[in-house]
Amino acid sequence: MEQWEQPIDTGVVPDGGSSFDVIVVGGGPGGSAAAAYNAMNGCRVLLLEKGIWPRDKPCGDAVGGKSLSHVEELGVLPMIEATPHYVVDSIVFGSSNNSEVRVMLPKETYEAKGLLSGYALPRIQFDYMLFKRATEIVLEAGGAVIQGFSVNDVTVEGAGEGVKIVGVRGKTGGARSEEPNLSFSAPLTIGAGGYNCPVSRAITEVHDEPHRDDEHFCGGYREYWENVEGLEDSEGPIEIHFIEEVLPGYFWLFPVQKGVVNVGIGMLISEQRKQKGMKKSLKQIQRWVIEEHPVFKQRFANATFVPKSQKGWQLPFGSPRKNAPSYQPRRAAMAGAMAVGDAASLVDPFSGEGIGNALVTAKMTTRHFDKKVHSEGFPQGAAEEYMENLWDELGKELTNSTKLQRLMKRKRLTNWFIKKASKKEEIGKMMSEMIASKESQEALWSPWFMFKTLILP
Ligand SMILES: Cc1cc2nc3c(=O)[nH]c(=O)nc-3n(C[C@H](O)[C@H](O)[C@H](O)COP(=O)(O)OP(=O)(O)OC[C@H]3O[C@@H](n4cnc5c(N)ncnc54)[C@H](O)[C@@H]3O)c2cc1C
Repeated sequence: MEQWEQPIDTGVVPDGGSSFDVIVVGGGPGGSAAAAYNAMNGCRVLLLEKGIWPRDKPCGDAVGGKSLSHVEELGVLPMIEATPHYVVDSIVFGSSNNSEVRVMLPKETYEAKGLLSGYALPRIQFDYMLFKRATEIVLEAGGAVIQGFSVNDVTVEGAGEGVKIVGVRGKTGGARSEEPNLSFSAPLTIGAGGYNCPVSRAITEVHDEPHRDDEHFCGGYREYWENVEGLEDSEGPIEIHFIEEVLPGYFWLFPVQKGVVNVGIGMLISEQRKQKGMKKSLKQIQRWVIEEHPVFKQRFANATFVPKSQKGWQLPFGSPRKNAPSYQPRRAAMAGAMAVGDAASLVDPFSGEGIGNALVTAKMTTRHFDKKVHSEGFPQGAAEEYMENLWDELGKELTNSTKLQRLMKRKRLTNWFIKKASKKEEIGKMMSEMIASKESQEALWSPWFMFKTLILP
């Protein structure tokens, strides 16, 4: 049995009615990191996860430098490097007229700065390691962790200006289990339950603001394949293709270890609804690309599908909302609660990357919550500061990515750019240098950075 297939011992289940400094709902990257960072900050944390490890999460599996710096800080990097993974050295962009450009990530520059470039590895491994490490940190700090615990109710007290979240209720064994409901309370509840997080739903409901929005939610579909031509090694490019049949979405090929490739498609739900005929579902589009597309059918000629690896999911984008009722991209906090990662709708609207922002916001929560000052409840004023801080840090990047996402709908423009870049070596070099010259790792590894820089005014 592989290391990440072994059960994780999460210790004793606390009694119902127990109080903590912080409750974290969801043990994906955002929740594991939020639990670990708050425990490192001296809090007694309760981490609640409805899945039981090992558990899979549909994703492209690409983990950039923005994520890796947190992974390193939490002590998870050695675990990742000791398991099978793919080292990303470049990004290939392909267009619908079959032009391609490969942009190398400047390895020496990363190394000289002591930074990490990108990795790709299945989320079943990545999330396992983060959750395992978070469990150790939380338990060491006197907190508790429960797996297989589904939060089904968020406790809201008060009304009007005094309304606040004070805890959660839920049970083990799934929604229909006979197990009794357990309640837990805390001055702060962190919502990290992904795109349908009960805490983030409560935050928006209380304020009568929208939670879901098809214009800002993307459908994603993933499969694993072995032996895809051109992607047989354990180091090399990840590929993103803006092919006609997939526009306004994209088709990706992200190797995750030697010989295994994560193959998928993403498209805005509002655009998906407009598709007709063959383009009904992402799964059908993907099948067409693999079986019929003149380039890809050859690359998949000797490839084999990994059984049961097909899964669909949703990506809540961080694109700014038109006439937002309050905060951008969506209300993500209130008295007693903050949401992080997908629960705060923070996936990059162009690239589909969401792990990095989940980890960034997980850490950000520790800047806003002080267990001594907020022992009577995380106040509304601090919640507002968190939301302002969140948009100050991520808003520019998310807004630029939204512009780019909209530009990519223009097939001719994408074709023009990729063709030009593929023919002119200087453009590739320039892209690479632009990546290298940025001081922060955040800018260094945004696989989309050079693309944005060239296209946007
Ligand atoms: C097809 C696809 C491809 C993607 N590709 C990439 C990529 O290549 N790189 C990248 O960076 N991002 C990618 N993303 C986005 C990325 O997967 C998410 O942004 C990321 O998982 C967000 O982490 P999170 O911790 O906020 O939420 P999640 O990873 O969704 O974790 C939420 C956790 O909460 C738990 N939970 C949910 N409800 C409850 C409840 N009621 N009670 C208790 N627990 C609960 C869930 O079981 C889960 O473990 C992709 C997404 C999709 C769908």
